[in-house]
Amino acid sequence: MSRTPLVAGNWKMNKTVPESLALVAEIGAALPRLDAVEVALLPPFTSLWPVSTSSIADSGVVLGAQNLYWETSGAFTGEISPTMLSGWCRYGLIGHSERRRLFGETDENVNRKVHAALSAGLRPMVAVGETLEENEAGRTEEVLGRQVPAGLAGLDEAQGLQVVMAYEPVWAIGTGKTATPDHAEQSCALIRRLVAQALGTAVAESVRVLYGGSVTPANAAELMSQPNIDGALVGGASLVAADFLAIVAAATPQPA
Ligand code: PEP
Repeated sequence: MSRTPLVAGNWKMNKTVPESLALVAEIGAALPRLDAVEVALLPPFTSLWPVSTSSIADSGVVLGAQNLYWETSGAFTGEISPTMLSGWCRYGLIGHSERRRLFGETDENVNRKVHAALSAGLRPMVAVGETLEENEAGRTEEVLGRQVPAGLAGLDEAQGLQVVMAYEPVWAIGTGKTATPDHAEQSCALIRRLVAQALGTAVAESVRVLYGGSVTPANAAELMSQPNIDGALVGGASLVAADFLAIVAAATPQPA
């Protein structure tokens, strides 16, 4: 089954509003036609709305939030609800390893956020992956076997079809140590099997599984050519227009 590749740029806590607008102007000026690939930008919250009203929005690029909270409104100082993002943001990144590691997010929190995002009409982009210690102990399968079903618990098939999975080995994020195409493919294939167990084969065949972790223009094509890798979640390289565009090009299927 063919799945439209998705390249998502996670800017993390980088770029002021003027810097964000300069970056999207640079990306927009050189962006190819987006009929065979989907491109999502995940700027910091302060830049999300300004970017959404910039000319990049006319190019077909969609937006995502780097995080969201599971309540719709109320006394939750500093949090952003999915309802506030709904209608103009397509994706909500949930369970990024920096959220899990630095802000104590649990699998249960991830699941609550997934449900909240879907209720507000946002598509959850659910990040999973093992730490270096877990990788070295040969525990990748065990970690994914816990994180994937926990993140997707309680979803029905229609909701499952809205989800994007992202395999992000923690040891590869921002370190320059990319997973080998073989390891990334095996892990993404495992995630797909786990999605099948949780939500059925129809969802597993349609769900896009991204790879993230030190993706660069130099390694993107080989990673993207793996059968179970449907795009990339890009951190550092998404802050450099030329690099991000080269990764988008590497993920774009070539006409036969
Ligand atoms: C990320 O933050 O999701 C990520 C993959 O970062 P980097 O590309 O910098 O490793």
